[in-house]
Amino acid sequence: MPAMKWWGWGFEGLEFSHDDKPDLAPFIAQKIGVDVRRKVSAPVRFEDLPIPDPRLPADLRAALEQVVGEEFVSVDPLDRVVHARGKSLRDLIRQRSGDLARTPDVVVRPGSEEEVTGTLEAALRADAVVIAFGGGSSISGSLEAPAAEARPVISVDLERLDRVLEIDSASRLARVQAGVFGPHLEEQLGALGYTFGHFPDSFTHSTLGGWIATRSSGMQSDRYGDIADMVKGLRVVTPSGMLVTRPVPATSTGPSVRQMVLGSEGRLGIITEATVQVRRIPPQRTILGYLFPTFADGLAAMQDLAASEYSVSVTRVSDAHETQFSFAMRVEPTLLDKLQSAALKAYLRHRRGFDIDQMCLAFIGYEGSEHHVATQRRAVGKLLKRHGGLCVGSGPGVLYDQKKFDIPYIRDFLLDRGAAGDVSETATTWSDLQTLYDAVITAAQAAFAQLRVMGYVMCHLSHSYHAGACLYFTFAFKASRDMLAEYEVVKAAIQQAFVDNGATLSHHHAVGTEHAEWLEEDISPPGVVMLNALFDGTDPGRHLNPGKIV
Ligand SMILES: Cc1cc2nc3c(=O)[nH]c(=O)nc-3n(C[C@H](O)[C@H](O)[C@H](O)COP(=O)(O)OP(=O)(O)OC[C@H]3O[C@@H](n4cnc5c(N)ncnc54)[C@H](O)[C@@H]3O)c2cc1C
Repeated sequence: MPAMKWWGWGFEGLEFSHDDKPDLAPFIAQKIGVDVRRKVSAPVRFEDLPIPDPRLPADLRAALEQVVGEEFVSVDPLDRVVHARGKSLRDLIRQRSGDLARTPDVVVRPGSEEEVTGTLEAALRADAVVIAFGGGSSISGSLEAPAAEARPVISVDLERLDRVLEIDSASRLARVQAGVFGPHLEEQLGALGYTFGHFPDSFTHSTLGGWIATRSSGMQSDRYGDIADMVKGLRVVTPSGMLVTRPVPATSTGPSVRQMVLGSEGRLGIITEATVQVRRIPPQRTILGYLFPTFADGLAAMQDLAASEYSVSVTRVSDAHETQFSFAMRVEPTLLDKLQSAALKAYLRHRRGFDIDQMCLAFIGYEGSEHHVATQRRAVGKLLKRHGGLCVGSGPGVLYDQKKFDIPYIRDFLLDRGAAGDVSETATTWSDLQTLYDAVITAAQAAFAQLRVMGYVMCHLSHSYHAGACLYFTFAFKASRDMLAEYEVVKAAIQQAFVDNGATLSHHHAVGTEHAEWLEEDISPPGVVMLNALFDGTDPGRHLNPGKIV
């Protein structure tokens, strides 16, 4: 797996384009005042980066080389820069401008659990810092070493631990190494007729270990569960030895150690392996599009669906702002598409009483046997209809499914054009969802007004639970002077609105350093005391990814 760009998302040579989306340029110009045909910014040249020399004592280097072999100990400048940060917008803005982090002194790639253990032992003997690295897709500042860190910093890249080791077909459990990337995991399982079913938007560039360490969620979590539900057993190299939790379906062994590792962001140890639930690849899988008169109707429909006996794999409803953005992202429509779309709009306006500006696009996923999909489609369709939902077929769902892993490239596209675009996500109860939504939209718009920038904020509900749902906000604005400072104002306003309205600081993007400010409000002061005790007790020398979460 080649590394991602040092300055942006994804592989070198791949980028987001507006050329095939005729409505996008006018949409962006109208909403945030950006002319997408004009690039106004570019990352500095790699040759011009002020990369410091590695501070790697010779005896530590020799010890690491002895553990993993010389070829897997790298002080290559590009390697070190790629491993210095993740891909939050803050990371992207600073990387592009040449404002480098406390760059790791060395990147080590162990090829087995024994080598991970040896690497950690060598690091502890040398009083070095160890930061586990999966795909480097962190969006919350979970990978950057503290700026003033004086000890040697070792980035431990798990990419060589990439195999499905064993499948227990009776229990539908797979033993999987933690460094496997999403596509390679699905490829190995798929060859045996199984799927893991975890599809975050960062799927292509993130790993099983990273998903576990950040409590990730995927597009189909409604059916397969969040990563916290899917991971049954763990093997973790810790400063006091090998931590092993048994892959039993349930246990009553005091506070859950498995849950402590979930979301620990590399602060308790290095996850080498997990036993995870897998399922047979469903014979049929489809995502249908629906239109609702308003976002409130869409939310009420999802609430009813969550309370019902029906089982779906995806629930997603965009608000009117995001629906308009989705329509603007359509690739070159044919004449037939245009006619159909005009006819649909006329039908919705005149026959169904829709206000087209308030209309919301939703996706519901169904999977399983042919019979299951057919019966669920029918039953869920009736339920959605009671809230004004109108099925518009599988076309929009197919397009969304195909394009979802390309969307992350849009942040770099906007940065090239002097605009910031980013996301913040949260979860709350069904009772508080609408109030939270209104508060966040108001907070973001107030932040744009305070900064005197043209901004746009939009939202979708992305995962439904019995008690509530995840709301996922996307915002963009044209920077006026200092993009990073302006971004911090908008991001903080949104995060503050989350915790002020009883919601969580993040549903699946983790805490890292970027959300740490809101942790105490979210989990209460004794919660922070407990976390500190956990981290300090497990890692008294603070060698493991210090400064994250609390
Ligand atoms: C554009 C974009 C879209 C995203 N979409 C989603 C989404 O849909 N759903 C979602 O949940 N997240 C999403 N994310 C966030 C990110 O992809 C997740 O947090 C992901 O789980 C990180 O995995 P990774 O392998 O890239 O880990 P990294 O970024 O490499 O590391 C993240 C944290 O995990 C720790 N870690 C990594 N591997 C290990 C290990 N083996 N042992 C111990 N600690 C380890 C690291 O030390 C760090 O603290 C998105 C991010 C971006 C930038």
